[in-house]
Formats: sequence, structure tokens, C-alpha cells
Amino acid sequence: MAKARSNDTCIDETHGNYLCQVSETVSCGACCGLYNLPNISRVKLENLLSERTDTFASVPRTEDGLYEFQRRNKGPHRLSRPFAQFHHCPFLGFISGNRSRVGCLLHPAAPGNCGIDYRSQSWYGELACRTYFCPATHKLPSVYQSILIQTADNWYDFGLIVTEHALLTAYFEEIESRLGRPIEVNDYTQNNRAADAFREFIKLKSKWPYRRHDSPGPCNFFFENGQYPRPGVFRSTPDIQLSPYEKILKELDSGFSSAEEIAAAEQLLDNLFLKTVQGIL
Ligand code: SF4
Ligand code: SF4
Repeated sequence: MAKARSNDTCIDETHGNYLCQVSETVSCGACCGLYNLPNISRVKLENLLSERTDTFASVPRTEDGLYEFQRRNKGPHRLSRPFAQFHHCPFLGFISGNRSRVGCLLHPAAPGNCGIDYRSQSWYGELACRTYFCPATHKLPSVYQSILIQTADNWYDFGLIVTEHALLTAYFEEIESRLGRPIEVNDYTQNNRAADAFREFIKLKSKWPYRRHDSPGPCNFFFENGQYPRPGVFRSTPDIQLSPYEKILKELDSGFSSAEEIAAAEQLLDNLFLKTVQGIL
């Protein structure tokens, strides 16, 4: 049986790595809709979560108190969310004293809850909150998961990439193909240059300069229910050729208006792959 999602850092008994809470600075709230807000940036999200966490500290842990907090924090819900049918939970906040880790303010281990689980007050309900695991937890190979959790250095970038199992798999497969062997965790943990290059790749999720014009932004809808499938690479003219990195470009939600533009995107990726492999060899 899968270990319930928790605010504690620990090992998932079924899947090996526990991706939801990794360390004091790395954690995720993507399935709670953390990134499903318009025009997100790390600073904006930090400010929102900080304010919410401050307010929540004095909220009475009663049905009325929690309901009132939820009602008052529904602001982001009324804005146009990138994925309208996907919630953004108002109980997402910071769960570490130094505001370095995101998590659930209703969790029994969250500050002020004295071990009591208040997640029954959430939109999804307690059972879903306790037991849901996103596809990456079972689709992303364990060695790739391990490299990710040992290399990522902040919650914002980590939560944006961790659900992107197809993107991560395509990245690691490219590195393995260039190395001519399967990747190992040590390849990254013992090589600063490789780890730095991988962190640069992770940042492409928020900073990708070739995102198609109608992209919902960096938020990922990963529920595999057919509601918001990610389209193929957008090409404004038919003479833009298929790319050797087609899979990666698709998962980065890319769009191109010229052959020169896609060539520049490929060059950017090439440089990152080269830097990674040179760090490992
Ligand atoms: S999106 Fe996946 S990794 Fe992130 S908190 Fe949810 S289950 Fe955990
Ligand atoms: S109440 Fe549920 S959906 Fe909201 S932050 Fe907590 S775990 Fe996520």
C-alpha cells in the first residue's frame, strides 16, 4: 500500500523515492494546483504563500474558522486560471519556519495543528489529499527520480519539473545515448558540472524562450484524464523540419515561427547536453 502523502520527508514504501517532501528546501504542491495561477513567478508565489501562511497562523482550528479562511482566500480562484477545471487549493502555504518549503497547511504535522488532520475541510476531501500520487511517482524511473531529488535546490523549480515525467525521461535518455550507457546517480552527485547543467535544464520549465503563443504557461496538467492534452510543437510554416529533440520540444510546449528559431532552440539544448556529458566523462 502506498504511503499517504505527507508533510514529512520520508520514503514512499511503494515507489522508493518520496517526491512530495524531499528536504527543508525542496517539496511539491503541484497536484494541489500550486502553479495553476495566471502569470506566475517565484516571487509572486512566495508572496502569496507567505501572506496566506501568516494569516493562517491565527485562524481558529474550527469548522467555521477554516471555512472563513477558505472563503477569504478564494481570490486566486476567481482569476483566470491556466486550467479552469483544475483547482488551486487555498490551503497551500509554507510549512517550514524559514519559508523554504511548501506544503499543506491542514496537514497534522503543519505548524499549529497539534497533530490533527484538518484536510477534510479541503475541496478534494481528506481521502484524496492523503492518498493521491501523480503519474511521475510511478512512471519516472527510480534512478531518474533519485537524481532529481538530489540535484534540485528549491521548491519552485522542483515542483514545476517533478510532474514532467515524459520531459525528464527524454532528457535522461538523450544523456544515456550520448554516454553509451545507462545513467547512474553518482554521475550527477559526484559531478558539479553535470548537476549544474541539469539544474539549468530544470529551469527551462519556467524560462523556456520558445513557448508557443497560446501556451497555458509553465503549469502542468498531468492528470491523464484527457481534459487538457499537451499539443505537438507548433510550427507557423510547414517548412520547419521535425527536430531530433521533438519530444523535449513538445513537452516544453514549444512553438516556432522559422527554421532559424528552432535551430536556436536545438542549439540551446545541445549546449546543455554537452555540458552534462563533459561533466560526467
Ligand atoms: S504532484 Fe506528485 S510529487 Fe507533487 S505533491 Fe503531488 S503527488 Fe507529490
Ligand atoms: S488540503 Fe489537500 S489539496 Fe489542499 S494543500 Fe492540503 S493536500 Fe493539497
